[in-house]
Amino acid sequence: MQMIDARFFIALYKSNNNIDIMPISLFREYAQKPLIVYHNKKEVIIELYCDECKKYNKSSLTLKSLKRPGGHRLYCYGCGRELAYLGSKADVEAMVSKHQHEVELLMHEMGFDDYFTEPFIMYELINHIHDMAEDKKIRCQCGSRNVAANIGTDKIELICKNCGSVYIVNAANQEDLEMVRKMQSITIKSKSCRKLTKY
Ligand SMILES: [Zn+2]
Ligand SMILES: [Zn+2]
Repeated sequence: MQMIDARFFIALYKSNNNIDIMPISLFREYAQKPLIVYHNKKEVIIELYCDECKKYNKSSLTLKSLKRPGGHRLYCYGCGRELAYLGSKADVEAMVSKHQHEVELLMHEMGFDDYFTEPFIMYELINHIHDMAEDKKIRCQCGSRNVAANIGTDKIELICKNCGSVYIVNAANQEDLEMVRKMQSITIKSKSCRKLTKY
């Protein structure tokens, strides 16, 4: 005899390409970052925190649609990042393994797995640095925002194209990644400040 499974499953993206799959009981409430779950009579309300935008995104799903075939993908309304998969256990597991396979394939195509000491950390860092540059959060003390990136096996060098000053972002371990994620902006220290003195 099979019991009715009153749970659905959610897969949350974490850093370093880890994905946590957790069962969510409809008879419980969840209120621990990054996930809030509660329900009213008709709907289950899911709030997911986006690390990028520093706020929660609210979705509501009817009980009936929770386990619809194929599951759901939940995105951040602010930045468009995919935050979680939701649905039946089988659907969520299938989505997670598809995602992991895609990332692995991509990294393999880019030659990441042969080249970098910590390919997943480097992958995350490159994406993050790219986003920061697009948001104009990287600049040099000389006033330039024209910055090139030189990617090493365990670090990224940010080089000011105007004065040649360098900022090194380490990419050797999880702490390096967390540190950069916490930074609001990156300022390259300019050695050419001295040049401003005229002789
Ligand atoms: Zn976001
Ligand atoms: Zn500069």
